Amino acid sequence: MGLLTEGSPLSWEETKDLADHVRKHGIKQFINLYHRLKNRQGDVLKWGDEVEYVIVQFDHEKRIARASLRAPEILQVLNEKEQKDPENVKSLWRPEYGAYMIEGTPGKPYGGLLAHYNVVEANMRLRREEVQQLLQPGEALMSLTSFPRLGCPDFTNPPTKVTPAEGTTQSLFFPDDCIFPGHPRFKTLTRNIRLRRGEKVAINLPVFKDTKTPDPYIEEFPQAPAGHPEATSAAKPDHVYLDAMGFGMGCCCLQLTFQACNIDEARTLYDQLTPLCPIMLALTAASPIHRGHLTDVDCRWNVISGSVDCRTKEERGLEPLKNNKFVIPKSRYDSIDSYLSEQGEKYNDVPLIYDQAIYEELRKADIDHLLAQHIAHLFIRDSVSLFSEKVHQNDEEDSDHFENIQSTNWQTMRFKPPPPNSPIGWRVEFRPCEVQITDFENAAIVCFVVLLTRVILSYRINLIIPISKVDENMQKAQKKDAVKTEKFWFRKDITTFSSPPACTACCQSSTETKSDSECYTLLSVDEIINGKAGEFPGLIPLINNYLSGMDVDADTHCSIQQYLKLIQRRASGQLQTLAGWIRSFVQNHKDYKQDSLVSDSINYDLLTELNAIQTGEKASPELLGRSLQSRTQESIPTAVRKAAGEYT
Ligand code: ADP
Ligand code: MG
Ligand code: MG
Ligand code: MG
Ligand code: MG
Repeated sequence: MGLLTEGSPLSWEETKDLADHVRKHGIKQFINLYHRLKNRQGDVLKWGDEVEYVIVQFDHEKRIARASLRAPEILQVLNEKEQKDPENVKSLWRPEYGAYMIEGTPGKPYGGLLAHYNVVEANMRLRREEVQQLLQPGEALMSLTSFPRLGCPDFTNPPTKVTPAEGTTQSLFFPDDCIFPGHPRFKTLTRNIRLRRGEKVAINLPVFKDTKTPDPYIEEFPQAPAGHPEATSAAKPDHVYLDAMGFGMGCCCLQLTFQACNIDEARTLYDQLTPLCPIMLALTAASPIHRGHLTDVDCRWNVISGSVDCRTKEERGLEPLKNNKFVIPKSRYDSIDSYLSEQGEKYNDVPLIYDQAIYEELRKADIDHLLAQHIAHLFIRDSVSLFSEKVHQNDEEDSDHFENIQSTNWQTMRFKPPPPNSPIGWRVEFRPCEVQITDFENAAIVCFVVLLTRVILSYRINLIIPISKVDENMQKAQKKDAVKTEKFWFRKDITTFSSPPACTACCQSSTETKSDSECYTLLSVDEIINGKAGEFPGLIPLINNYLSGMDVDADTHCSIQQYLKLIQRRASGQLQTLAGWIRSFVQNHKDYKQDSLVSDSINYDLLTELNAIQTGEKASPELLGRSLQSRTQESIPTAVRKAAGEYT
């Protein structure tokens, strides 16, 4: 999203009363923009990453690492730079949910040259250096998926207090003052999600049961206000209880956006990348610790999904429907529910919930079934943040009401229509990945996924499996050590476009929906990435095959190979995931008492070590191998540009 404009948020009651207004005009806006842009052709590949960071303050004397709430100050300086020279800045900075977080993207999207893959890491490095200059002594910028002691006593600098009986979040653990204060959007969302749901959000993560963890593990919450039994009633035994939006939206992630040449290519990419979401989630697993506890999961996904779950009891199926329209199986933050391309249609095997009237309006406006049901499904949600300045809009030109609902459906993939009056085309966003600690790893993931999109389009491979199987994979992906221990549903024959369909069970008739059990099989992440003899070629061998026909400069070639090696070794288990690495660090720490708890001193040492790894002061062979290193460069060599006929 662009620089957030200031505005005055409406109260929840006002927002709620305007829910149908936002939906009605949002749909009209989508119909208008669709007809304006559906035939847009010839956009070239452009792409870019988003990396989110935590600002950490190390207190070396007391050996405590805290979340530093200085993002607003730091962002102000970064944004002034951008405003002075928007065309030439090398990075763009945006606020994120936490007052201790910031998000950075490249100044401009990358393009179709292979040499762009060699700029990504250098640009990420530049971004860090840029923020580094604005940090105070003891502070560090860390691309950490979850701050391990988020929500523990005294986890912020300056100190903040929880307000369990009042305020926006009413959390036992996460103070309102940790929410980014510079823009009302974040607090408004938090309040409205709580009010819409009718109670605080509640996330229960299974605790990692170590030898000295009490059995059952039951926490006391002395900070719960007297006379508020609901403050703790959602906490389950043997789980780590989290009760605030900040536990999820306060996590960091790595996202990627691609521009497609037209709407159909965008629909294809949306579908083809969907089955890869759980695989990439497992491969990038980086968050085993939440609220100072080792948990039994390695990823943030269910935390963030639960952290914005605004569904009422009726919508969650706990009470009969009376005031609401639908029972809704998932949070508005979750894996996608339907494919958008014709190839995907027969794999839409999960009943899709949508408002029939909205669906019919879209159909009447000449929007095909798959796109109409996708949009109508997004629009089962109410607006949870509305600004007074935005209530009345020109549906012919504006798209704010559409974006209001679209941008608060936080799913694994996002289908992004072109913004009004811009040169930007149809895009697809890939959103599952956890962020890694080094730029090298993040660049590796980014380049791997972009290369996969090229392979998918060039070889016209088909990775689609039933949506229900993708959902199963999402849950498997988050389990402890999923890369080493889980098998994932994956498509067997991926060459169904270019060669005659080998899999007759599912590819013969489009009316057949569920009898395609022969189309997919169970594979490990290793087999998916590296291949399984006689059964699956492997994604990296496919990428290498694609690259072998390409002309590329030596440095870029080297960097790409290093990135692919990292992915290969992570997948094979030769290198640890960051989640695995963090677990073993904690479990081998001298202060760890085998009781699942990550104390301040363990946290301090853990983050000190990770910071040394991300700055390159320390090697980490278990995580990064002994010799992997790219030849990343800040810009594309002139000779390469000229050879490609690109002079700008
Ligand atoms: P959001 O937060 O809505 O997902 P951001 O603006 O933070 O979006 O990030 C969008 C990403 O898309 C950035 O990495 C940016 O470089 C990239 N990007 C910008 N323009 C294009 C384009 N035309 N096509 C593809 N990606 C683009
Ligand atoms: Mg963004
Ligand atoms: Mg965001
Ligand atoms: Mg973000
Ligand atoms: Mg994004």
